[in-house]
Amino acid sequence: MATAVTIGHLYPDLLDLYSDRGNVMILEKRARWRGMDVEVRRIGVGDGAELAGCDLLVMGGGMDREQNLVARDLLDRRREFERAVDEGTVVLAICGGYQLLGEYFETGRGEKIPGIGLLDLYTVAGESRMVGNVAAVCRMDGREETIFGYENHSGRTFLRPGTEPWMRVVQGFGNNGEDRGEGARKGRVFGTYLHGPLLAKNPGLADWLLRLALERRGFTGELPPLNDRWEEAARKNLEQRLIRLKGMESPHVGSGSTGE
Ligand code: GLN
Repeated sequence: MATAVTIGHLYPDLLDLYSDRGNVMILEKRARWRGMDVEVRRIGVGDGAELAGCDLLVMGGGMDREQNLVARDLLDRRREFERAVDEGTVVLAICGGYQLLGEYFETGRGEKIPGIGLLDLYTVAGESRMVGNVAAVCRMDGREETIFGYENHSGRTFLRPGTEPWMRVVQGFGNNGEDRGEGARKGRVFGTYLHGPLLAKNPGLADWLLRLALERRGFTGELPPLNDRWEEAARKNLEQRLIRLKGMESPHVGSGSTGE
């Protein structure tokens, strides 16, 4: 069992819509509950904190203004980012952060905020906002699981040929409201529109990302299960509200972590 994990929290003061910082808290807690030492490194604009050595990088969402404020710093860190990913760091970016991992986000005012191009996609604001609860089926290597979250974005994201969506929307809008794609994955880099906080609502996803991140430290086993009784009850409730009451089928709500 790995004994330590370092989580880099990018722009915690600027990118924190709908308590996106909760994702970092969940990762930290779930690692500590398994006896690991956890370092959470806050990485702000121009503060010199390094991405190197982070097992996992988490970036939340933000309004157009906040995205503009972090874009320059992110561009300056592009090489550093690429190096970290090459060395096995896992990246999770939500909504505004996700858009900035792509090529650009063109806002409703026609301003083009440049991204760092880790994901081959671009985003253009539409006239309406896409708002509401989301249920989507997520691919996690060998298995699929229904993921619940909340979205609120003007941006419509379009994936370039060869780039795969991370999830398939069952309920909600996802990347663009047209093709049922949600988020994108390239290797160990993940982007999604789902706030929630995402990992509080989906402990199976939290553990999967944690485990992937620990591979960087040579850990390839299974994480010991935790007691997710309350989380599972909340997920059943969401499933009922978002899927079954609308007459849809969802065979994938059970999470991987089933310990009592
Ligand atoms: N400002 C972006 C948009 O509206 C991202 C919003 C968000 O992070 N929720 O599309």
